[in-house]
Amino acid sequence: MAKNKRDIRAFTKEQLRSFFETQGDKAFRGNQVYEWLWQKSAHTFEDMTNISKETRQMLEDNFVINHIKVDQMQRSSDGTIKNAVRLHDDLIVESVLIPTKTRTTACVSSQVGCSLDCKFCATARLKRMRNLNPDEIYDQVVAIDNESRLYFDRPLSNIVFMGMGEPLMNYNNVLKAIDKITSPEGLGMSPKRIIVSTSGVPKMIRKMADEQVKFKLAVSLHSAIDEIRTSIMPFNAKFTLADLRESLEYWYLKTKSRITYEYVVWDGINDTQNDANALVDFCRFAPSKVNLIEYNPIDDGEFQQAKNAAIEMYVSTLERNGITVTVRRSRGKDIDAACGQLANKS
Ligand code: SF4
Repeated sequence: MAKNKRDIRAFTKEQLRSFFETQGDKAFRGNQVYEWLWQKSAHTFEDMTNISKETRQMLEDNFVINHIKVDQMQRSSDGTIKNAVRLHDDLIVESVLIPTKTRTTACVSSQVGCSLDCKFCATARLKRMRNLNPDEIYDQVVAIDNESRLYFDRPLSNIVFMGMGEPLMNYNNVLKAIDKITSPEGLGMSPKRIIVSTSGVPKMIRKMADEQVKFKLAVSLHSAIDEIRTSIMPFNAKFTLADLRESLEYWYLKTKSRITYEYVVWDGINDTQNDANALVDFCRFAPSKVNLIEYNPIDDGEFQQAKNAAIEMYVSTLERNGITVTVRRSRGKDIDAACGQLANKS
């Protein structure tokens, strides 16, 4: 019965080679199957045309390929595409293709729902059901790469882990997915084109620094004042700014890699000069970049984008202090694909 079959993509190449040897076949067969599974993203054993019919049947009898299925694809008037992705157990996550003139960026999910409870985020209202497997993360990227080739005539160029879920709460699987994405036996993308965006889990940031990961780090900061940050991101009471900053200092010491801060300015919450000064103080210790992201109100409208004057005040304060700042316009608002809006509404 199908439920007793093993997920073939949980096997490493070495494990597949030994499996074929134990079947009295050549170890090399494992390489061929591995290539079909990852480089060629085969959805069925039937697709593996250089493998004999008997071997394909034997694989069919023993394994499943739990491929994701893009259930629904929505296109925004600005070109952004949102995929509702069905997993093998019928749970749904969302991923987004964001096109610009020169790039295509995939924003991918790492968990079904989220373990954290940021007040401004639609995903936080979904219960965390489970972590995504490495292949489910990888498949989201492949689906967006295919869409980029189809609709924009170019391959995917960048990836951000900024969809549903906190990637550092699913660290091992995210890392395994990135290994596949960057491996020549997978998509062969440069790790420099991948950003893992975290709300700030100090212990995991230190671990990443120790492991000398090659991808980039972004932190969703939103306030550099504990009291305010805790009111909008309650887990900050446990992972305080002092602890976060210490872990980021360690990250910079080990990797010498610039830190990007994602930051939304909300009306009446963090829009004063005092808030901007605190941000400057927080990120002074290492080369930093601040992305001021336009906010997309979610249903109850409790959080509202700050007035332009507040954004300008932030920009001039940061620039005056030598911190690189960009103002990011939101994309895909009309299809609920913008930052903080992913909530399986489609
Ligand atoms: S902002 Fe990110 S970490 Fe916070 S609840 Fe939403 S998905 Fe989770």
